[in-house]
Amino acid sequence: MAVNLITHDIRNGMIYRQYLATSDSEIERMVENAQRAIKDWSKASISSKQKILRRVSEKLLFEQERIIEAEVSESGKFRDDAISDLYAASKMWEMAAEILDDQNPDAVNSKSKLMDGYELNTPVGVVAMITPSNYPIIVLSERLPFALAAGCAVIAKPSEFTPTSTLIVQQICHQCGVPPEIFAVVIGDGVQSGSKLVSNKLINMVSFTGSTATARDIVSKIDPISVRTSFELGGKNSAVIFEDADVEKACESIAYAATINGGRACIAISRIVVHASIISDAEVLLKQNLIKRLAANRTLNETDLPQPISESHIKKLNSWVDTALKLGAREILITSNKKSQIAPRIFSNLSPFVPLFSEELFAPYLTLNSFEKYEEAIEIANAGNYGLAGYCWTKSGTISDRFSRDIYAGRIWINSDMRRMNIRLSIGGFRDSGNGRELGVDAIKRYTASRTVIG
Ligand code: NAD
Repeated sequence: MAVNLITHDIRNGMIYRQYLATSDSEIERMVENAQRAIKDWSKASISSKQKILRRVSEKLLFEQERIIEAEVSESGKFRDDAISDLYAASKMWEMAAEILDDQNPDAVNSKSKLMDGYELNTPVGVVAMITPSNYPIIVLSERLPFALAAGCAVIAKPSEFTPTSTLIVQQICHQCGVPPEIFAVVIGDGVQSGSKLVSNKLINMVSFTGSTATARDIVSKIDPISVRTSFELGGKNSAVIFEDADVEKACESIAYAATINGGRACIAISRIVVHASIISDAEVLLKQNLIKRLAANRTLNETDLPQPISESHIKKLNSWVDTALKLGAREILITSNKKSQIAPRIFSNLSPFVPLFSEELFAPYLTLNSFEKYEEAIEIANAGNYGLAGYCWTKSGTISDRFSRDIYAGRIWINSDMRRMNIRLSIGGFRDSGNGRELGVDAIKRYTASRTVIG
């Protein structure tokens, strides 16, 4: 049997799994089958879909060891993080079942009488769902159960580095009653298989989570008039510490949010903006907390931090650091001298034009800037084109309200970080971070198209 997709255990470089990549003709067949099967699936009763979604939620926990092992090996996560991802994913499937009848009776195929008509929410159709390497099961579960609940069919394409947990979810879905034509998985890389899938003329919606550069490539291959898109992309996320903040708590929190998943999280903090009056305290506390976090990881795990999947990413980061240093950046914390390892670092004195300041780093690297006036803080925090997450530390409700309106971010944490999550609130970004929204009470509705019926 020909084998043409090999994944690795990135902790030791050994081969983890070998798969046959999905051929172009198989992708075409999958999409055609999905278009045919959707007619029945979209008519399935709410209670039958709820049963299936709840079974999947339970079975994910039952099969947790296989899933956790795949996520730890292929994406290099820490086991504890993989466990919490799995539990969160299971909750998302349960939530999809709940909101099918819960508080949103309009969501699927039901009528709300207006004066002389009603709106019918019908499934968007066949969704191409492309997911990234850093959070395979979470990203899939933020989308898939809601699309299925809406009556859509989904063809998922996981990252070529981390396909195994998605294949396990596929197996679970089929065992729990999702017809195989309604949820299928394409195995392959992005350039060949991903492009082939999104450019198929029978695809009605592209739900893409990944980098902004890939999203631009996808946009060039689809017809934006007839294909609905939902893009959840990268971020360059700032944390502003205002003069009145609890600096100790802020720095503990920032160190956590900068190093989560080794910094390979779309919402990880990477730019810190601190009021000039407290910058020296913040500098010391940030250093202490990052070192503490590294030490805690050493105690819990075999490695210091989860490591990046690709050599090319390490090379890109090293070149960005070299450029910044050449242009006058100052390195105020370095926790490892190994060029092959990505460990926490802090830089200050950065030119706003260097990629280290403006680009998504996907590493536990922080840049530090100071400000005097509120407007200056916002200008630094909003610099560049991303708009995913924002963090602010202040005791003033007036300042935090103002910040929430001024920062370009779809998710804002006030005096806290991603350890506080609520899947009943939506997620998504602005600008180069994408146009999509997922989760929240409208999670199912996003995969429907409304029709107005009058008569
Ligand atoms: P990536 O863009 O390299 O790949 C993402 C997916 O797209 C993979 O499945 C890949 O195979 C596929 N792909 C690549 N080229 C393609 C093409 N030309 N056509 C179609 N598909 C293609 O991203 P990655 O490195 O896997 O993931 C990291 C990125 O994802 C970061 O930018 C991160 O911020 C972002 N991300 C965003 C969110 C969010 O919710 N906003 C969540 C997780 C990750």
